[in-house]
Amino acid sequence: MQNYGKFYQKSWEERINHISQNEKLTKEQIQILKNSAHNKSLGDTMIENYITDYSYPEGIAFHYLINNKRYLVPMVTEEPSVVAASSHGAAIIAKAGGFLAKTSERLMIGQIILESVEDSAKLIIEIQKLTKDLLVVADQAHPSLKKRGGGTRWLKTHILAEDLVVLNIAIDVQEAMGANMINTMLEAVAARLEAVLRQQVLMSILSNYATECLASTTCKIPYELLSKNGFAGEIIAQKIVQASRVAQLDTYRAATHNKGIMNGIDAVVMASGNDWRAIESGAHAYAARNGQYKGLSTWKISGDYLVGELEMPLPVGFIGGSIGIVPLVSLNQKLMKITSARELEQIIVSVGLAQNLAALLALVSEGIQKGHMRLQLKSLVIAAGANVAEEAVLVDKMLQADKRDIASAKKILTDYRKKDKNG
Ligand code: NDP
Repeated sequence: MQNYGKFYQKSWEERINHISQNEKLTKEQIQILKNSAHNKSLGDTMIENYITDYSYPEGIAFHYLINNKRYLVPMVTEEPSVVAASSHGAAIIAKAGGFLAKTSERLMIGQIILESVEDSAKLIIEIQKLTKDLLVVADQAHPSLKKRGGGTRWLKTHILAEDLVVLNIAIDVQEAMGANMINTMLEAVAARLEAVLRQQVLMSILSNYATECLASTTCKIPYELLSKNGFAGEIIAQKIVQASRVAQLDTYRAATHNKGIMNGIDAVVMASGNDWRAIESGAHAYAARNGQYKGLSTWKISGDYLVGELEMPLPVGFIGGSIGIVPLVSLNQKLMKITSARELEQIIVSVGLAQNLAALLALVSEGIQKGHMRLQLKSLVIAAGANVAEEAVLVDKMLQADKRDIASAKKILTDYRKKDKNG
């Protein structure tokens, strides 16, 4: 390992020179690093040891009709067919009248973990007596939140183990995701607990299990909108209901069911400048809320309709974090024509359900690979070295090939180029 010393103290040029020399990068590789660094000052503001920008493609999903309002949905993803599937699912649901989406309060839970507790029952009584004071301390640590109508809502304690007590504080975060604000408030409360009760604090941090910041959406699709590949809509609906049951019963399937939902959700979370790790961890914890990990969405038959529902924690911000400093995020908010975190939550949860519908439709009718084969093959032939002009021809050739792996793609490309050269 080469010595990188105080890399963070170096200028961007010095970092590029240093890493290029140490790692013996070629001229072309150095150029890639330099050319990809589109916004050095922003990168340096956002993270540590910045060298370049790693960009993801952004696309627009269409046909979203949510609570009678039409939306364009920017999606940032590296995965082929996510944007197309999203628009496809949304189009079916729009024809059926669209999504009905709702949000709960926007409360986040902050936790203070107390350790080396000698008498946990006694400590809980002492904390309960101090509750009002502790909530005031928390609010005073970030007073602007209370001025905006947010701030602390309640405090609850419980025993985790003989020597461990947890204190959960619910905080209305208004338009922000709230992590930094909450952590500041918790640290003030922790200091008060240490001072007044002489109680040792292990840690103070928000919880990403945002059970008090939920978004939900539903849709009701008549059978006739579901018929596909010669299958009657009713049959497709029944198969989707079965697929939904399987995701409630089998963890292997549930994980993949939810991955499909998160394909859409993460893409919009990223486009809106939010923290997708926070959303992912909360979503999966919520999927296991009854003790078994299950599919987040459910599909049922009601009359001649397929009814879909999705509910999950969505503590996204409309303000705060990197949202205000990344110009593309503001532009994406404008494209979505949204004015609040709640409206963003409603879009994101609906995207999750549309994505789920599209995936299940493909799975129960033609199989996921066939439906998305062209897009997958496009990535494959590019990985094999095809240029833009060769892409379409190569995809057609791959569709006729027995094997659809990278080695076959490379061989087909070599043969094609030889033929092309020889006329
Ligand atoms: P910020 O630290 O940026 O705080 C929100 C800011 O928005 C505040 O400064 C507040 O201003 C301002 N603001 C303006 N208008 C409003 C309004 N109407 N409602 C609420 N705030 C408003 O962001 P967050 O506290 O939301 O933290 C989010 C970031 O924290 C994310 O980037 C996340 O990645 C990161 N993070 C996540 C963790 C986790 O998930 N476990 C842990 C730690 C960090 P004012 O100061 O005037 O109140």
